[in-house]
Amino acid sequence: MNIIEIDNTYVAGTYKRFPIEIVSGKGSLVTDVNGKQYIDMGSGIAVTSFGIADDEWIAAVEKQIRSVQHMSNLYYTEPCALLAKALCEKAGMKKVFFGNSGAEANECAIKVARKWAAEHKGPACSTIVTLENSFHGRTLTTLAATGQEHYHELYQPLTPGFAHIPAGDLDALKKLNANSTVAAVLIECVQGEGGVIPLDPAFASALEQYVKANDILLMVDEVQTGNGRSGKMYAYMNYGLHPDVVTTAKGLAGGLPMGAALLGEKVKDIFSYGDHGSTFGGNPVAAAAALSVVNRLTDEFLAEVSAKSALLRSLLEGAPGIESVSGIGLMLGLKTAKPASEVVSACMERGVLCLTAKDKVRLLPALNIPESLLRQAAETILDVCKT
Ligand SMILES: *Cc1c(COP(=O)(O)O)cnc(C)c1O
Repeated sequence: MNIIEIDNTYVAGTYKRFPIEIVSGKGSLVTDVNGKQYIDMGSGIAVTSFGIADDEWIAAVEKQIRSVQHMSNLYYTEPCALLAKALCEKAGMKKVFFGNSGAEANECAIKVARKWAAEHKGPACSTIVTLENSFHGRTLTTLAATGQEHYHELYQPLTPGFAHIPAGDLDALKKLNANSTVAAVLIECVQGEGGVIPLDPAFASALEQYVKANDILLMVDEVQTGNGRSGKMYAYMNYGLHPDVVTTAKGLAGGLPMGAALLGEKVKDIFSYGDHGSTFGGNPVAAAAALSVVNRLTDEFLAEVSAKSALLRSLLEGAPGIESVSGIGLMLGLKTAKPASEVVSACMERGVLCLTAKDKVRLLPALNIPESLLRQAAETILDVCKT
């Protein structure tokens, strides 16, 4: 059996994989087992922030892995402490809980909201409101948070206490909170899995105003949009929001599993010893990797991300076969005349790896993708879309 056959035989069938086996890469180029090279416009779904096998990232990981690869959270390690400090300083937050994935980061946020509301507003206040078409993870509780019915069907009963409102419908939130039972609102600034749909800024402001006035926690899911992807450290900064909890994961450690919930002033001391935990959370290798990523997200670097976003948009917007371009930073969604999956397959054939999100072609290149590769990938996408 070849690798594809072994995988299909022995790996649980949750992923519909493309029929290529990737064996190596450098930066924004990856190579398959047959030696064919691809421009990577997906970054492992917004994970490899600085591309594949980036030298600086490898150095940070290697240094830590040769020192100590894991200790339990019973002891202090330097990368965990320094990363928490760096994240708090960059986001204006106060404390960090580390986990290993986006779902775990959101689980933590949900626990924070439940404990905070029970203590500050009474046990009847437990509802967590999210938006329709949102995506917050695959655990039973983050599935309950996810505002897409089709993810719910197979796994009833889900964790109770969640409600979903249409993006833009503040009245729906007011109705849900008629008896002050809403503990928190959890939003994505750009719905990623939902089709690269940015939140309307006017709604975001009105929502913030309402939740602040009603002592409801504002929680922002930055699992996909975070860590420089939007051209700012976090996407909420593009909206001028002041969240109480920020969750992030995907690109945080540049390719190692790490999730984090950043806690603001209101909730920074909500957890006491034993209230929550994670064996691997804050693992020193993942934390060293993340610290190297976060330290490179300077204002100058983020300005380059925005410039590349503007370039990519200008190349694609209004082109034949491309009906619209959505998203912010290096997180773009293309509504194409052809079905998105057809575009992605044709691009792969021609050496460009793209993603889909609902009916869109989704582009999430490495934040440091060279302009030349960005232009080359755009050329292929344009060519595929026009015919
Ligand atoms: C990917 C994603 C998640 C889930 O992250 P995992 O690491 O797969 O658990 C949660 N929220 C958003 C917005 C995401 O894009």
